[in-house]
Amino acid sequence: MEAPAQYSELKKRLSEIYDLYGASSVLGWDQATYMPPGGAAARARQLGTLSKLAQEKLTDPAIGKLLDELRSFENNLSRDSDEASLIRVTRRSYQIATLIPPALVEEISNHIAMAYQTWAKARPENNFVAVQDNLEKTLDYSRQYAESLRPLDSNYRHVMDPLIDLSDYGMQVETVQSVFTELRQALVPLVKAISESSVTDDACLYQSFPGDQQLAFAKEVIQKFGYDFQRGRQDPTHHPFATRFSAGDVRITTRVDDHHLGDGIFATFHESGHGMYEQGINVDFDATPLGGGTSAGIHESQSRTWENIVGRSRAFWEHYYAPLQALFPDQLKNVSLDTFYRAINKVEPSLVRVKADEVTYNLHIMVRFDFELALLEGKLAVKDLPEAWNARYQADLGITPSDYKDGVMQDVHWFAGLIGGAFQGYTLGNILGAQFYQTALKSHPEIPAEIGQGKFDTLYGWLRANIYQHGSKYNAPELIQRVTGGPLDVQPLVSYLYSKYGEIYGLNL
Ligand code: ZN
Repeated sequence: MEAPAQYSELKKRLSEIYDLYGASSVLGWDQATYMPPGGAAARARQLGTLSKLAQEKLTDPAIGKLLDELRSFENNLSRDSDEASLIRVTRRSYQIATLIPPALVEEISNHIAMAYQTWAKARPENNFVAVQDNLEKTLDYSRQYAESLRPLDSNYRHVMDPLIDLSDYGMQVETVQSVFTELRQALVPLVKAISESSVTDDACLYQSFPGDQQLAFAKEVIQKFGYDFQRGRQDPTHHPFATRFSAGDVRITTRVDDHHLGDGIFATFHESGHGMYEQGINVDFDATPLGGGTSAGIHESQSRTWENIVGRSRAFWEHYYAPLQALFPDQLKNVSLDTFYRAINKVEPSLVRVKADEVTYNLHIMVRFDFELALLEGKLAVKDLPEAWNARYQADLGITPSDYKDGVMQDVHWFAGLIGGAFQGYTLGNILGAQFYQTALKSHPEIPAEIGQGKFDTLYGWLRANIYQHGSKYNAPELIQRVTGGPLDVQPLVSYLYSKYGEIYGLNL
């Protein structure tokens, strides 16, 4: 069927909006990499201007009119078609943008800019009192924001549902709670069994390992994974991220520690997973709402696949340990592959989420998810959060933070955004990474053997065909169903963790 004129008009308008987003991303990337400190104030203003222009263009009633006029065209197309998907996904973006009052958007953005500055100063000073009032205000704004989105879906049952839906479209409090409960029941005995077993020594990782050499190694590996440097680049930053300007320019950033082998390498593997997802999206989706990863959880599933399932596997290091040893001969000559493999997979309950291992990591997320719920429901007051945080860490991980800095104030999320929906995507990503990988192995049982030979084409090709290329065409539940033939399932992650760590720690599970 020939697309009506309204369809090309819609695409033309979307292209302008997405050019503004692209320009914002370039400015944001520059801000986080090379901008001198003196540029901060003007940069904040420039980003604000671009975001306001994009918002005005997206909420233009002309877009609503085009979407209405395209209904009959859309209804005659298969839901799977690119055109129907573009109209459907644009309609949702338009609804979200028009439901939130512009004044609220502006108030929140001003508040968050200030809350972030306060947190950045108060965190090293270990001063929770300094951020308490801001956090209360953020909580209030989060409720208002969620409330304004309620008309989006009549199935919302919980105050946090709209906030989860924004980052993990199609998921709700109930869905997340039920998968988290199931995962927790499997993790608690595993963590306990590991803590009671022999200790793994990771001292070999704490020596001098020049950062540029670590990054050169990681760069070579991610090119083998499938990250394309003709359509990307890598630069240093404080908090690594991946960012998309267009299909032809998807950049990653990293940080490295000269006195620890691994942080820079695994952060690079992680970001390359986000980057390959974005680079793999159908180029025809560029400058439309389809041209981006579909949800936080699906995005994270891709970074975790390359960082953990591939990058921390024994097969991978059976191929890559010799080149790494050759790169650091003095440091690693007396370290066996087995010792190194155990060191990079050491499990130890710790205070800081971003430094947590694969097994305990999800417990950190569950703590945050439950606190977001309790705060939004009014069951926990902000002033009681630090004490509740410490008690929960003691109960779940067996350790109590000795300060706020590495306790309740460690994550930027609640100080640079809303409270609610900020964390579940990380654990959904771990669950989905394992679920997708298990599905890939069903069609291609040769994948682990190939990884052992430093070959990643089969895995990359499968991910690209089944996940990457679709961009945001399918929401997460639709994509999971399409790829795996079933709903979100915790069991592949549980079997992966039990078998991998059972073997490393010699457990009788
Ligand atoms: Zn990530």
